[in-house]
Amino acid sequence: MTVASWLELSGHAYTANVAAYRAVVGKAKVGAVLKGNAYGHGLLETLSLAHGQVDSLYVITPAEALAIRAWETQHGKPRREVLVIGAVSADDCLELARHQVSAVAADRGFEDTVRALRAAGLKLDVHVHLDTGLGREGFTRAGLEKGEADFFASAQDVITVRGVLSHFSNTEDVTEQDYARTQLANFEAGFALLRARAGVAADVQRHFAASAAALVLPPSRLDVVRVGIALYGLWPSAETRLSARVVLGTLPTLEPVLSWKSPSQVVKWLPAGSFVGYGCTWRCAADTRVAVLPVGYWDGYPRLASGKAYVLVNGQRCPVLGRVMMNHVIVDVTHATADERPVVATLLGRDGDESISAETLAGWAQTIHYETMTRLGPHLRRVVVG
Ligand SMILES: *Cc1c(COP(=O)(O)O)cnc(C)c1O
Repeated sequence: MTVASWLELSGHAYTANVAAYRAVVGKAKVGAVLKGNAYGHGLLETLSLAHGQVDSLYVITPAEALAIRAWETQHGKPRREVLVIGAVSADDCLELARHQVSAVAADRGFEDTVRALRAAGLKLDVHVHLDTGLGREGFTRAGLEKGEADFFASAQDVITVRGVLSHFSNTEDVTEQDYARTQLANFEAGFALLRARAGVAADVQRHFAASAAALVLPPSRLDVVRVGIALYGLWPSAETRLSARVVLGTLPTLEPVLSWKSPSQVVKWLPAGSFVGYGCTWRCAADTRVAVLPVGYWDGYPRLASGKAYVLVNGQRCPVLGRVMMNHVIVDVTHATADERPVVATLLGRDGDESISAETLAGWAQTIHYETMTRLGPHLRRVVVG
Protein backbone atom coordinates (compact mmCIF):
# COMPACT_ATOMS: atom_id res chain seq x y z
CA MET A 1 0.00 0.00 0.00
CA THR A 2 1.37 3.42 -0.92
CA VAL A 3 1.80 6.16 1.65
CA ALA A 4 -0.96 8.51 0.53
CA SER A 5 -4.06 10.18 1.86
CA TRP A 6 -7.41 8.51 1.25
CA LEU A 7 -11.13 9.28 1.40
CA GLU A 8 -13.68 7.26 3.33
CA LEU A 9 -17.33 7.26 2.30
CA SER A 10 -19.97 6.30 4.81
CA GLY A 11 -22.74 4.24 3.26
CA HIS A 12 -24.74 4.64 6.44
CA ALA A 13 -24.60 8.43 6.17
CA TYR A 14 -25.64 8.37 2.52
CA THR A 15 -28.66 6.20 3.30
CA ALA A 16 -29.65 8.48 6.15
CA ASN A 17 -29.46 11.55 3.90
CA VAL A 18 -31.66 9.96 1.23
CA ALA A 19 -34.16 9.03 3.93
CA ALA A 20 -34.09 12.58 5.31
CA TYR A 21 -34.97 13.94 1.86
CA ARG A 22 -37.69 11.38 1.22
CA ALA A 23 -39.27 12.29 4.55
CA VAL A 24 -39.32 15.98 3.62
CA VAL A 25 -40.39 15.88 -0.03
CA GLY A 26 -43.27 13.43 0.35
CA LYS A 27 -44.53 12.10 -2.95
CA ALA A 28 -41.89 13.81 -5.08
CA LYS A 29 -39.17 11.50 -6.33
CA VAL A 30 -35.59 11.94 -5.19
CA GLY A 31 -32.81 12.10 -7.76
CA ALA A 32 -29.08 12.28 -7.03
CA VAL A 33 -26.75 14.74 -8.73
CA LEU A 34 -23.44 13.00 -9.38
CA LYS A 35 -21.64 15.74 -11.33
CA GLY A 36 -18.14 16.89 -10.46
CA ASN A 37 -16.99 13.33 -9.72
CA ALA A 38 -19.93 13.12 -7.32
CA TYR A 39 -18.88 16.36 -5.62
CA GLY A 40 -15.41 14.86 -5.25
CA HIS A 41 -16.69 11.73 -3.54
CA GLY A 42 -15.96 9.56 -6.59
CA LEU A 43 -18.52 8.84 -9.30
CA LEU A 44 -18.50 5.05 -9.16
CA GLU A 45 -18.01 4.78 -5.41
CA THR A 46 -20.97 7.10 -4.87
CA LEU A 47 -22.95 5.30 -7.55
CA SER A 48 -22.55 2.08 -5.57
CA LEU A 49 -24.34 3.86 -2.70
CA ALA A 50 -26.88 5.82 -4.73
CA HIS A 51 -27.96 3.41 -7.42
CA GLY A 52 -30.33 1.30 -5.36
CA GLN A 53 -31.67 4.19 -3.32
CA VAL A 54 -32.61 7.06 -5.58
CA ASP A 55 -35.06 7.40 -8.47
CA SER A 56 -32.85 9.09 -11.03
CA LEU A 57 -29.27 10.14 -11.60
CA TYR A 58 -28.06 13.47 -12.95
CA VAL A 59 -24.65 14.11 -14.47
CA ILE A 60 -23.08 16.89 -16.50
CA THR A 61 -21.15 15.00 -19.17
CA PRO A 62 -22.01 12.17 -21.57
CA ALA A 63 -18.86 10.38 -20.35
CA GLU A 64 -20.25 10.27 -16.81
CA ALA A 65 -23.56 8.87 -18.07
CA LEU A 66 -21.82 6.16 -20.09
CA ALA A 67 -19.68 5.28 -17.06
CA ILE A 68 -22.91 4.73 -15.12
CA ARG A 69 -24.29 2.46 -17.87
CA ALA A 70 -21.03 0.48 -17.94
CA TRP A 71 -21.15 0.09 -14.14
CA GLU A 72 -24.75 -1.17 -14.35
CA THR A 73 -23.79 -3.75 -16.96
CA GLN A 74 -20.73 -4.85 -15.02
CA HIS A 75 -22.69 -5.26 -11.77
CA GLY A 76 -25.84 -6.73 -13.32
CA LYS A 77 -28.01 -3.84 -12.14
CA PRO A 78 -31.18 -2.58 -13.80
CA ARG A 79 -30.89 0.65 -15.76
CA ARG A 80 -31.75 3.73 -13.73
CA GLU A 81 -33.02 6.89 -15.34
CA VAL A 82 -29.90 8.89 -16.19
CA LEU A 83 -30.13 12.48 -17.43
CA VAL A 84 -27.21 14.49 -18.79
CA ILE A 85 -27.95 18.02 -17.61
CA GLY A 86 -24.85 19.55 -19.21
CA ALA A 87 -24.00 20.54 -22.77
CA VAL A 88 -24.24 17.82 -25.42
CA SER A 89 -23.29 17.74 -29.09
CA ALA A 90 -25.32 15.97 -31.76
CA ASP A 91 -22.72 13.17 -31.80
CA ASP A 92 -22.96 12.84 -28.01
CA CYS A 93 -26.71 12.45 -28.34
CA LEU A 94 -26.39 9.53 -30.76
CA GLU A 95 -24.24 7.75 -28.21
CA LEU A 96 -26.66 8.59 -25.40
CA ALA A 97 -29.61 7.34 -27.49
CA ARG A 98 -27.83 4.03 -28.01
CA HIS A 99 -27.45 3.66 -24.23
CA GLN A 100 -30.94 4.84 -23.25
CA VAL A 101 -29.60 7.92 -21.53
CA SER A 102 -31.74 11.08 -21.61
CA ALA A 103 -30.35 14.44 -22.63
CA VAL A 104 -31.35 18.01 -21.93
CA ALA A 105 -32.36 20.25 -24.82
CA ALA A 106 -31.62 23.81 -23.83
CA ASP A 107 -31.47 25.90 -27.00
CA ARG A 108 -32.29 25.85 -30.69
CA GLY A 109 -28.90 24.28 -31.45
CA PHE A 110 -30.64 21.05 -30.52
CA GLU A 111 -32.13 20.98 -34.02
CA ASP A 112 -28.75 19.58 -35.14
CA THR A 113 -29.37 16.65 -32.84
CA VAL A 114 -32.81 16.08 -34.34
CA ARG A 115 -31.26 15.85 -37.82
CA ALA A 116 -28.46 13.56 -36.62
CA LEU A 117 -30.94 11.24 -34.89
CA ARG A 118 -33.03 10.98 -38.07
CA ALA A 119 -29.97 10.23 -40.17
CA ALA A 120 -28.90 7.52 -37.71
CA GLY A 121 -32.40 6.11 -37.19
CA LEU A 122 -32.23 6.62 -33.40
CA LYS A 123 -34.69 7.92 -30.81
CA LEU A 124 -33.80 10.01 -27.78
CA ASP A 125 -35.61 10.90 -24.57
CA VAL A 126 -35.27 14.58 -23.83
CA HIS A 127 -35.91 16.99 -20.98
CA VAL A 128 -36.39 20.61 -22.03
CA HIS A 129 -34.52 23.17 -19.93
CA LEU A 130 -36.19 26.53 -19.35
CA ASP A 131 -34.12 29.55 -18.32
CA THR A 132 -36.43 31.09 -15.75
CA GLY A 133 -34.01 33.65 -14.38
CA LEU A 134 -30.54 32.16 -13.91
CA GLY A 135 -29.34 33.40 -17.28
CA ARG A 136 -27.52 30.15 -17.91
CA GLU A 137 -28.73 27.36 -20.24
CA GLY A 138 -32.35 26.98 -21.24
CA PHE A 139 -35.05 28.47 -23.46
CA THR A 140 -36.06 31.91 -22.26
CA ARG A 141 -39.65 33.00 -22.22
CA ALA A 142 -38.90 35.51 -24.99
CA GLY A 143 -37.24 32.76 -27.02
CA LEU A 144 -40.24 30.47 -26.61
CA GLU A 145 -42.55 33.25 -27.71
CA LYS A 146 -40.41 33.75 -30.80
CA GLY A 147 -40.85 30.06 -31.59
CA GLU A 148 -37.34 28.79 -30.73
CA ALA A 149 -38.73 25.51 -29.35
CA ASP A 150 -41.43 24.98 -31.93
CA PHE A 151 -39.23 22.45 -33.75
CA PHE A 152 -40.07 19.85 -31.08
CA ALA A 153 -43.61 19.62 -32.47
CA SER A 154 -42.30 18.15 -35.71
CA ALA A 155 -39.52 16.07 -34.15
CA GLN A 156 -41.68 13.50 -32.42
CA ASP A 157 -40.45 10.77 -34.75
CA VAL A 158 -37.02 10.91 -33.03
CA ILE A 159 -37.54 12.91 -29.83
CA THR A 160 -39.76 12.06 -26.89
CA VAL A 161 -39.99 14.93 -24.44
CA ARG A 162 -40.10 13.24 -21.02
CA GLY A 163 -39.53 16.22 -18.82
CA VAL A 164 -39.25 19.95 -18.36
CA LEU A 165 -36.79 21.45 -15.91
CA SER A 166 -35.25 24.64 -14.66
CA HIS A 167 -32.69 25.66 -12.05
CA PHE A 168 -32.85 28.28 -9.30
CA SER A 169 -30.33 31.07 -9.06
CA ASN A 170 -30.79 32.45 -5.60
CA THR A 171 -32.21 29.93 -3.14
CA GLU A 172 -29.06 29.37 -1.06
CA ASP A 173 -28.00 32.96 -0.46
CA VAL A 174 -31.23 34.28 1.02
CA THR A 175 -33.77 33.41 3.70
CA GLU A 176 -36.76 34.72 1.75
CA GLN A 177 -37.56 33.19 -1.62
CA ASP A 178 -39.13 36.01 -3.63
CA TYR A 179 -36.85 35.58 -6.63
CA ALA A 180 -37.37 31.81 -6.61
CA ARG A 181 -41.15 32.35 -6.66
CA THR A 182 -40.74 34.57 -9.70
CA GLN A 183 -38.74 31.77 -11.33
CA LEU A 184 -41.50 29.29 -10.50
CA ALA A 185 -44.06 31.55 -12.16
CA ASN A 186 -41.81 31.85 -15.22
CA PHE A 187 -41.58 28.05 -15.27
CA GLU A 188 -45.35 27.66 -15.39
CA ALA A 189 -45.57 30.20 -18.19
CA GLY A 190 -42.79 28.50 -20.14
CA PHE A 191 -44.35 25.09 -19.65
CA ALA A 192 -47.68 26.41 -20.96
CA LEU A 193 -45.90 27.71 -24.06
CA LEU A 194 -44.18 24.36 -24.61
CA ARG A 195 -47.55 22.59 -24.41
CA ALA A 196 -49.23 25.05 -26.71
CA ARG A 197 -46.49 25.40 -29.34
CA ALA A 198 -44.01 22.53 -29.07
CA GLY A 199 -46.33 19.56 -28.66
CA VAL A 200 -45.09 18.83 -25.13
CA ALA A 201 -47.52 16.64 -23.17
CA ALA A 202 -49.12 17.98 -20.01
CA ASP A 203 -48.04 14.97 -17.94
CA VAL A 204 -44.27 15.11 -18.51
CA GLN A 205 -42.01 15.08 -15.46
CA ARG A 206 -41.41 18.55 -14.06
CA HIS A 207 -38.34 19.22 -11.96
CA PHE A 208 -36.76 22.37 -10.58
CA ALA A 209 -35.52 22.08 -7.00
CA ALA A 210 -31.94 21.31 -5.98
CA SER A 211 -30.96 20.60 -2.34
CA ALA A 212 -31.95 23.97 -0.91
CA ALA A 213 -35.27 24.62 -2.66
CA ALA A 214 -36.44 21.06 -1.98
CA LEU A 215 -36.27 21.88 1.73
CA VAL A 216 -37.22 25.52 1.96
CA LEU A 217 -39.64 26.09 -0.93
CA PRO A 218 -42.30 23.34 -0.93
CA PRO A 219 -44.05 24.40 -4.19
CA SER A 220 -40.75 23.83 -6.02
CA ARG A 221 -40.70 20.09 -5.32
CA LEU A 222 -42.90 19.24 -8.33
CA ASP A 223 -42.39 15.64 -9.56
CA VAL A 224 -38.75 15.05 -8.65
CA VAL A 225 -36.04 16.92 -6.79
CA ARG A 226 -32.42 16.96 -8.00
CA VAL A 227 -30.40 16.72 -4.82
CA GLY A 228 -26.68 17.33 -5.02
CA ILE A 229 -24.73 18.52 -2.01
CA ALA A 230 -27.24 17.49 0.66
CA LEU A 231 -27.08 13.78 -0.18
CA TYR A 232 -23.38 14.06 0.62
CA GLY A 233 -24.50 15.26 4.03
CA LEU A 234 -23.60 18.91 3.56
CA TRP A 235 -25.91 21.89 3.94
CA PRO A 236 -26.01 24.11 0.83
CA SER A 237 -25.48 27.18 3.03
CA ALA A 238 -26.03 28.58 6.50
CA GLU A 239 -29.07 30.45 5.15
CA THR A 240 -30.61 27.20 3.94
CA ARG A 241 -30.18 25.68 7.37
CA LEU A 242 -31.85 28.67 9.02
CA SER A 243 -34.72 28.65 6.54
CA ALA A 244 -35.22 24.90 6.80
CA ARG A 245 -35.74 25.18 10.52
CA VAL A 246 -38.40 27.83 9.99
CA VAL A 247 -40.16 26.25 7.01
CA LEU A 248 -40.08 22.63 8.22
CA GLY A 249 -40.45 23.40 11.92
CA THR A 250 -37.59 21.03 12.60
CA LEU A 251 -34.12 20.57 11.19
CA PRO A 252 -33.47 17.45 9.11
CA THR A 253 -30.27 15.69 10.08
CA LEU A 254 -27.66 15.51 7.35
CA GLU A 255 -24.65 13.31 7.97
CA PRO A 256 -21.42 14.08 6.11
CA VAL A 257 -20.56 11.11 3.93
CA LEU A 258 -16.87 11.83 3.40
CA SER A 259 -13.82 11.81 5.64
CA TRP A 260 -10.29 12.56 4.45
CA LYS A 261 -7.37 10.91 6.18
CA SER A 262 -3.65 10.90 5.73
CA PRO A 263 -0.91 8.78 7.22
CA SER A 264 2.29 10.52 8.19
CA GLN A 265 5.30 10.28 5.94
CA VAL A 266 7.54 10.95 8.92
CA VAL A 267 7.19 12.22 12.50
CA LYS A 268 10.23 14.02 13.88
CA TRP A 269 11.49 16.78 16.19
CA LEU A 270 12.56 20.14 14.83
CA PRO A 271 14.65 22.19 17.25
CA ALA A 272 13.54 25.66 18.37
CA GLY A 273 14.38 28.21 15.69
CA SER A 274 13.80 25.81 12.76
CA PHE A 275 11.96 27.10 9.73
CA VAL A 276 9.13 25.07 8.23
CA GLY A 277 8.06 25.00 4.60
CA TYR A 278 8.55 27.11 1.48
CA GLY A 279 9.22 30.76 2.00
CA CYS A 280 10.31 30.18 5.61
CA THR A 281 6.97 31.60 6.73
CA TRP A 282 6.89 29.57 9.95
CA ARG A 283 9.61 29.40 12.58
CA CYS A 284 9.39 27.09 15.55
CA ALA A 285 9.39 29.06 18.79
CA ALA A 286 10.20 25.90 20.74
CA ASP A 287 11.28 22.37 20.01
CA THR A 288 8.42 21.06 17.89
CA ARG A 289 7.37 17.53 17.01
CA VAL A 290 6.04 17.69 13.47
CA ALA A 291 4.27 15.20 11.25
CA VAL A 292 4.91 15.52 7.53
CA LEU A 293 1.75 14.48 5.68
CA PRO A 294 1.98 13.31 2.06
CA VAL A 295 -0.94 15.45 0.91
CA GLY A 296 -1.06 18.90 -0.67
CA TYR A 297 -2.80 21.17 -3.11
CA TRP A 298 -2.35 18.64 -5.93
CA ASP A 299 -4.72 16.44 -3.94
CA GLY A 300 -7.16 19.30 -3.40
CA TYR A 301 -5.99 20.54 0.00
CA PRO A 302 -6.26 24.29 -0.62
CA ARG A 303 -3.06 26.32 -0.48
CA LEU A 304 -5.11 29.26 0.79
CA ALA A 305 -5.59 27.27 3.99
CA SER A 306 -1.90 27.89 4.80
CA GLY A 307 -1.48 29.49 8.20
CA LYS A 308 -5.11 28.87 9.18
CA ALA A 309 -5.87 25.20 8.93
CA TYR A 310 -5.51 22.40 11.43
CA VAL A 311 -5.90 18.66 11.18
CA LEU A 312 -6.91 16.16 13.84
CA VAL A 313 -4.50 13.62 15.31
CA ASN A 314 -5.63 11.42 18.17
CA GLY A 315 -8.68 13.64 18.60
CA GLN A 316 -6.61 16.81 18.99
CA ARG A 317 -6.28 19.85 16.78
CA CYS A 318 -2.86 20.16 15.20
CA PRO A 319 -2.07 23.38 13.33
CA VAL A 320 -0.73 23.32 9.81
CA LEU A 321 2.69 24.98 9.97
CA GLY A 322 3.82 27.22 7.13
CA ARG A 323 2.57 26.82 3.62
CA VAL A 324 0.54 24.04 2.12
CA MET A 325 2.77 22.56 -0.59
CA MET A 326 1.96 20.63 -3.75
CA ASN A 327 2.43 17.25 -2.11
CA HIS A 328 3.08 18.00 1.55
CA VAL A 329 1.55 19.53 4.62
CA ILE A 330 3.48 19.82 7.89
CA VAL A 331 1.55 19.81 11.15
CA ASP A 332 2.49 20.33 14.78
CA VAL A 333 1.90 17.10 16.71
CA THR A 334 3.99 18.02 19.77
CA HIS A 335 1.09 17.41 22.14
CA ALA A 336 -1.05 15.07 20.03
CA THR A 337 1.29 12.11 20.14
CA ALA A 338 3.87 10.81 22.59
CA ASP A 339 6.64 9.61 20.28
CA GLU A 340 7.79 9.53 16.68
CA ARG A 341 5.76 6.56 15.53
CA PRO A 342 3.52 7.09 12.48
CA VAL A 343 0.19 8.87 12.99
CA VAL A 344 -3.00 9.17 10.98
CA ALA A 345 -4.33 12.69 10.51
CA THR A 346 -7.94 13.55 9.76
CA LEU A 347 -8.16 16.43 7.28
CA LEU A 348 -11.96 16.29 7.01
CA GLY A 349 -14.31 14.45 9.31
CA ARG A 350 -14.40 13.34 12.91
CA ASP A 351 -11.71 12.12 15.27
CA GLY A 352 -12.87 11.64 18.84
CA ASP A 353 -14.71 14.72 20.06
CA GLU A 354 -13.32 16.96 17.34
CA SER A 355 -14.38 17.29 13.74
CA ILE A 356 -13.48 19.38 10.72
CA SER A 357 -16.34 20.15 8.35
CA ALA A 358 -16.19 20.86 4.64
CA GLU A 359 -17.51 24.33 5.45
CA THR A 360 -14.59 24.94 7.81
CA LEU A 361 -12.02 23.86 5.23
CA ALA A 362 -13.74 26.00 2.59
CA GLY A 363 -13.75 28.96 4.97
CA TRP A 364 -9.98 28.72 5.47
CA ALA A 365 -9.65 28.77 1.69
CA GLN A 366 -12.06 31.71 1.30
CA THR A 367 -14.40 29.73 -0.90
CA ILE A 368 -17.47 27.49 -0.67
CA HIS A 369 -17.49 23.82 0.16
CA TYR A 370 -18.96 23.01 -3.28
CA GLU A 371 -15.59 24.05 -4.69
CA THR A 372 -13.31 22.45 -2.12
CA MET A 373 -15.16 19.14 -2.37
CA THR A 374 -15.18 18.97 -6.16
CA ARG A 375 -11.45 19.70 -6.15
CA LEU A 376 -10.63 16.58 -4.17
CA GLY A 377 -8.25 14.77 -6.49
CA PRO A 378 -9.81 12.07 -8.66
CA HIS A 379 -6.61 10.07 -8.03
CA LEU A 380 -7.24 9.73 -4.29
CA ARG A 381 -8.17 6.28 -3.05
CA ARG A 382 -11.83 6.14 -2.04
CA VAL A 383 -13.03 3.50 0.36
CA VAL A 384 -16.69 2.82 1.08
CA VAL A 385 -17.18 1.91 4.72
CA GLY A 386 -20.38 0.72 6.42
C1 LIG B 1 -25.68 21.30 -9.43
C2 LIG B 1 -27.10 21.23 -9.83
C3 LIG B 1 -28.06 20.69 -8.95
C4 LIG B 1 -27.73 20.27 -7.54
O1 LIG B 1 -27.42 21.39 -6.74
P1 LIG B 1 -27.19 21.22 -5.16
O2 LIG B 1 -27.23 22.60 -4.62
O3 LIG B 1 -25.84 20.60 -5.01
O4 LIG B 1 -28.27 20.34 -4.65
C5 LIG B 1 -29.34 20.54 -9.43
N1 LIG B 1 -29.68 20.93 -10.69
C6 LIG B 1 -28.78 21.47 -11.53
C7 LIG B 1 -29.22 21.89 -12.90
C8 LIG B 1 -27.47 21.66 -11.14
O5 LIG B 1 -26.59 22.21 -11.97
